[in-house]
Amino acid sequence: MKLSQIEHLGIATPSLEEAIPYYENVLGLKCFAIEEVADQKVKTAFFQIGEVKLELLEPTSPESAIAKFIEKNGGRGGIHHIAFKTDDVAAALADASEKGIQLIDKAPRKGAEGLNIAFLHPKSTMSVLTEICENPNEN
Ligand code: ZN
Repeated sequence: MKLSQIEHLGIATPSLEEAIPYYENVLGLKCFAIEEVADQKVKTAFFQIGEVKLELLEPTSPESAIAKFIEKNGGRGGIHHIAFKTDDVAAALADASEKGIQLIDKAPRKGAEGLNIAFLHPKSTMSVLTEICENPNEN
């Protein structure tokens, strides 16, 4: 597949309210967007550093995959996924599938910031939950 850069790192947190001041006051980054993604039962906060973003994810329901991740992590957050940018998520999925990679999403869906996204299963990706995304406004 053809990836151009790391688009963002996904970081799970039990509380955006507690996490945001760390990123702003200690790391000196600016939160430029907060968005709820109802589909994934998360609230996200975005920071930009160079070409890469940090996506903080707070669960909005105990059913959320992020809530389960935090629970497994002793109630704390941590790095949850890495998101690579491509200009064709569907093609990347087809390529991965052909190479025997287990897909979480068989087709692209809408993520935060209007991106088309899809996840590959960590069982097939050296235990790193991997997101592939494309910005439909750039294509
Ligand atoms: Zn993400």
